[in-house]
Amino acid sequence: MGDYAFISDNISSVLENIKFAAQRAKKSPEDITLINVSKTKPIEMLLAAYDSGSRNFGENKVQEIIAKAPLMPEDTVWHMIGHLQKNKVKKAVATAEMIHSVDSAELALLINDEAEKIDKKQKILLEINIANEDTKYGLGLQEVIPLVRQLSKLENIEICGLMCVAPFTEVAEENRVYFKNMHDLLLDINSLKLDNVNMNVLSMGMSGDYEIAIEEGATHVRVGTSIFGERDYAK
Ligand SMILES: *Cc1c(COP(=O)(O)O)cnc(C)c1O
Repeated sequence: MGDYAFISDNISSVLENIKFAAQRAKKSPEDITLINVSKTKPIEMLLAAYDSGSRNFGENKVQEIIAKAPLMPEDTVWHMIGHLQKNKVKKAVATAEMIHSVDSAELALLINDEAEKIDKKQKILLEINIANEDTKYGLGLQEVIPLVRQLSKLENIEICGLMCVAPFTEVAEENRVYFKNMHDLLLDINSLKLDNVNMNVLSMGMSGDYEIAIEEGATHVRVGTSIFGERDYAK
């Protein structure tokens, strides 16, 4: 495990940054969940992160959760953060604590059906295409509230909150407005006081911008590169 000592150092600095960002947001560091985004990374790296105290791991493919879960300690918590194909819903529901990437009624209904079969209440987030980018998945702003109204009646999903992948930028400050809009949307939804709807999760912020996301209300940050290093998709 010696080769991966850098992981524990990286996690310490990320946690330190989270602590200060939480203070600026007048929150306690415990209010922020660090999701270790381990996609493409070998199990030894995940184990090193686990040994440094990490318990929450994020993957963007269900197959990768399925492959890694049996090799990790039982109390590892899995987050499905990538686009979810309909034929993978059953496996996602079987393994993920939270599915962050729900972006259609059809997908939510399938999740509800599969969760019902195994007597689970599946935690989900609605993915918002907050900067309205052609290249991104997610709901348009005007689609969100009607969808929440529709889904709130389902018994086997719990809509815990909202998720976004902000635009790629060298200047993290440019994403502040999107994080703020996410927070405003969450408050708008809660102010409708719909039955069964009380959202408190905002999954936003990645390696480049998680501190700003926390300042604007993120409760869950998804950090990959700053913990595990750059990803090599060519391998
Ligand atoms: C890969 C990924 C991340 C982590 O990105 P980094 O920039 O490596 O921190 C976060 N969220 C989602 C949805 C991802 O696919």
